[in-house]
Amino acid sequence: VDVFVCAMYTSGMDDRTLIGPIGQLVVPGETGLTVWEPGGLLFEGTHVVWSGHWRDRPPGMSPARAYPDRCILPGFVDPHTHVVFGGDRFQEFQMRQAGKSYAEILEAGGGIHWTVQHTREATEETLYHAARARLREMLAQGTTTVEIKTGYGLSPEEEAKLLRVIQRLREEGPQHVVPTFLGAHVVPGDMPRTAYLEQLKEMMVHIQGQARFVDVFVDRGAFTVEEAELLLSTARTLGFRLKVHMDELSHTGMAPVAARLQVVSADHLDHTPPEDLTHLARAGITAVLLPTVTLFLKGDRWPDVATMRRLGLRRALATDMNPGSSPYYSQQTVMREAVRLLGFTPEEALLGITYHAAHALDLHHHVGTLRPGFSADFLVLDRPHWGYLFYEPDRNPVQEVWIRGTLQWERRA
Ligand SMILES: [Zn+2]
Repeated sequence: VDVFVCAMYTSGMDDRTLIGPIGQLVVPGETGLTVWEPGGLLFEGTHVVWSGHWRDRPPGMSPARAYPDRCILPGFVDPHTHVVFGGDRFQEFQMRQAGKSYAEILEAGGGIHWTVQHTREATEETLYHAARARLREMLAQGTTTVEIKTGYGLSPEEEAKLLRVIQRLREEGPQHVVPTFLGAHVVPGDMPRTAYLEQLKEMMVHIQGQARFVDVFVDRGAFTVEEAELLLSTARTLGFRLKVHMDELSHTGMAPVAARLQVVSADHLDHTPPEDLTHLARAGITAVLLPTVTLFLKGDRWPDVATMRRLGLRRALATDMNPGSSPYYSQQTVMREAVRLLGFTPEEALLGITYHAAHALDLHHHVGTLRPGFSADFLVLDRPHWGYLFYEPDRNPVQEVWIRGTLQWERRA
């Protein structure tokens, strides 16, 4: 049982709920989607105990609800976000729209340090309510599991504050929240590099048990491969699982190190060459691709999806929700952009925000599909086929959102 997902696990025979017939039930797996028409779903308390064709349903039970002309699929998993931050970067966006350069924006006080300053100035209460509102928007778009990174505090006190906010979001739900420590986002402006690296190691000792993952931003202007190796090895010794931001702005050469350290996911990969992808694929690492970042920044460099596919490298998708490079809330949008911009098939894209996204959080035994033993997190679409998510590309077909077997959001009539 995973403590980050199953905190409210209960069971009991009176607790069984049968749903069906369902016009179309979509059950993602490692290599594709299983589609049941008509389907049925049985959950006991918070967890699925059976899913399949309606004719094979367990005998002697009457269904609690029927959705004969609807599609049901698992809730979406967003495995890479930075939703806890102070302020926004609207002014910076306006400057970019007006043709100002990155250097001019930095000179005007923009960029990540602007967010760090505003996050430090914000109270815990303010940060909590702003992040909670963002999670509500994501819920209405069908996202039922969200990874959230720290990384705008960049000091022991401020990073601890962000972890407390994330912990409160996790406890109050309704989504599953997975906390990641990203103290190694950038070196803070007010501290020497070597001193901050030492401080990061101390911080990791203090936050054991408060974060599931430790992540490092490896790139030009952030951390080097050598620094990342040191930090991630320390994190692994302390019992954290590992993630890495890499090859977003340049080719870093991090891939062999990521493979050796057995990171769970390698994120961005816009500049990762085929030989480096081979390392990631062989190590069974999940790639997390973030197409809305490149789209939002009007970039022209895209990850090499054809090679990833050929190598069998598992690909998840995420919003990277953050104020500077990706103010996107919806995994539906990310999925559609992956088809349009990255050459994903619709089926690959849906796997990328469900089962494969669960892999990126090492939660693929808990969320991301609707097989027995998984959390009963599912969406009811007001359409009969999952393909409508692409056919009507700017419409949200999510009608109901269920998490842990409970209806958590319903569109108003
Ligand atoms: Zn990120």
